[in-house]
Amino acid sequence: MIIIGAGATGLCAAITVARAGRKVTLLEQNSKIGKKILVSGNGKCNIDNRYIDNKRFHSQDPKFIEEVLNGYDYKSVESFFASIGLELIEGKEGKMFPMSLQASSVVELLEYEAKRAGVQIICDCAVTSIDKKDNTFTVETSQGIKTCEKLLIASGSPAAPQLGGSNSGYAFATKMGHTLIPRHPSLVQLCSEETWVKECAGVKVAGSAQLYANGEYITEKKGDLLFTNYGISGLAILDLSREVSIHLANYDYCELNLDLIPELSKEKLTNLLLKRIQEDSDKPLSLWLQGVINKKLIPVILKQSKCKANIEKELNRKEINKIVHTIKNLKLSINDTKGFKGAEVATGGINTTEVNPKTMESKLIPNLFFAGEILDVDGDRGGFNFHFAWVTGMKIGTNNL
Ligand SMILES: Cc1cc2nc3c(=O)[nH]c(=O)nc-3n(C[C@H](O)[C@H](O)[C@H](O)COP(=O)(O)OP(=O)(O)OC[C@H]3O[C@@H](n4cnc5c(N)ncnc54)[C@H](O)[C@@H]3O)c2cc1C
Repeated sequence: MIIIGAGATGLCAAITVARAGRKVTLLEQNSKIGKKILVSGNGKCNIDNRYIDNKRFHSQDPKFIEEVLNGYDYKSVESFFASIGLELIEGKEGKMFPMSLQASSVVELLEYEAKRAGVQIICDCAVTSIDKKDNTFTVETSQGIKTCEKLLIASGSPAAPQLGGSNSGYAFATKMGHTLIPRHPSLVQLCSEETWVKECAGVKVAGSAQLYANGEYITEKKGDLLFTNYGISGLAILDLSREVSIHLANYDYCELNLDLIPELSKEKLTNLLLKRIQEDSDKPLSLWLQGVINKKLIPVILKQSKCKANIEKELNRKEINKIVHTIKNLKLSINDTKGFKGAEVATGGINTTEVNPKTMESKLIPNLFFAGEILDVDGDRGGFNFHFAWVTGMKIGTNNL
């Protein structure tokens, strides 16, 4: 078997196929294998999630996800890693990491096991085209032509091109008759043309963000909000970005409603602020608000709230209501994302109705397989994307040979 792409999927598939006794050649365009694994989880590699749930994966074909993951929960991934000598530990929200907390240990152990099982790994080898005649695939590469009877395309998505993200697998697949679901950047930072965010660059709050598209409520995520010189990032934003990307591609007007203090209800925040007012105080409002909120955010809060008070003693219930409403509903229009370059994954990909979820084999071309992120499946942040990569990689070796 030839495998295109030595990422998480290709490495896991190569090991399971070679262990089943098949000759495997793994072709990688980069000079090193597993580049995305190396940078994942800020260098710690959030390798999986203990709480696998079909709802944490997205596709136009949810039944495919159900069938792929059936019988392949976290335990199956844990035993695969135990078999290569890697222990895992749990972080917050079921996130699993290598016990070393080093992504490099994941790549080095995968590489060692692949070679031990007999996999031939060829780096700096970009596949440029594939063809099939009779029962043989011809694979043209930057290092010459190779042939095989079984071919796995595990070349990933266009996310993070600086790490090898590419569209090439889609071109090979469509040439073979497969269709594609549109790809959009996901788990990506968002851009805004509003100038105030630049002035707040570097400010991070534990907040929440609601997404509205054309004025219609879409979804809400809690977590860090990080203002930047291009727009906004942070965990809540990455988690929202999938929906934003899809709506922007549809030319919808996207606006975020940011709650800067979600732990206090509107009533509690109002009472807190009302209690703080000293009736004879000339303290400037911008200073008074520093008692509760980051000072860089205050000018925008005062502007968006259209607050008429300038000093503390001018505050009254009506002005406080306006301020509270803005702190809990700060508006930020979004005009773009940081694109595939900033994205951790891509939505969309090979139409999964054309792939057998038990074997990962193409329903159109016998002995052609797809696995990992190239398929129209993407997961939430938290180890779900790697889960899909390991599971589909494993399935290639265990269900076909
Ligand atoms: C910065 C970052 C952090 C991330 N952190 C996490 C995390 O902590 N947890 C998590 O679950 N997910 C994380 N992800 C997502 C995760 O890395 C991917 O979902 C996963 O790597 C997909 O695996 P894959 O093998 O299908 O594709 P890839 O990892 O993209 O591997 C595909 C490989 O194919 C090669 N290739 C492409 N075209 C060709 C060609 N024509 N010829 C030869 N080789 C080719 C590429 O160079 C690449 O090495 C992160 C992603 C990024 C970018």
